[in-house]
Amino acid sequence: MKAYFLFILQCILPPLALLALTKATWYWLVVAIIIFFLMRCVGYTITYHRIITHQTHRMHPVVEFLGLLLGFYGSMSTPLESASIHNNHHRFMDTPRDPHSPKHIGWRAWFPLFWTEKDKGHMSTIRRLSKNPRVMFFQKYYWILALLPLALLLISLEAFLFIWLVPAAFALVTLSWSTFNHDDNGPIDRGWLFGILTGGEHKHVWHHSNATSTKGEGWLNWVVELICLKN
Ligand SMILES: [Zn+2]
Repeated sequence: MKAYFLFILQCILPPLALLALTKATWYWLVVAIIIFFLMRCVGYTITYHRIITHQTHRMHPVVEFLGLLLGFYGSMSTPLESASIHNNHHRFMDTPRDPHSPKHIGWRAWFPLFWTEKDKGHMSTIRRLSKNPRVMFFQKYYWILALLPLALLLISLEAFLFIWLVPAAFALVTLSWSTFNHDDNGPIDRGWLFGILTGGEHKHVWHHSNATSTKGEGWLNWVVELICLKN
């Protein structure tokens, strides 16, 4: 059900976001860019991917909850499901059992609905994260949280479009672009522009060789060290 919902969002949000951008004032454009960076980099790349999934650092519980909230709206997926699937990606990288290997499933890697073995999460990751109440909050209240952005319409259409729809649309699109971090020979590094657009996911060779450390990930490591505690 969640995968179908996400698939629909992946299809309809980007064109709506492009339409909204034609009406954007400079003020709302800046707001959308800042929220996109917070969702994509602080939320997904750092909190979901590096902290919750790979435990590179620790976070203060309040920072962790805020990071999870940003990651949730930047991916419309729960941290537990995201982490358990992602750890299977590391475990089975570029094999048929990799949930989203572009080598094996091509363009379908962009859409979690078509990922392989997506219901077989990484068991030790699930056991570990089941003990984290902040992570389980998103598991328990997925649908309420997923529909909550509609409340922004009570403020104004611009608030709904530029605080949620536009940044979430671009976060979902650039999340799909993470599949470009692999070619037929395995993980590859990408340039600085790719890094900015994907919230710091551009040093993928380092990431797969040193998943529990961000030291070789350029500016991403500065941001991680700024907002996280050492392990
Ligand atoms: Zn990873």
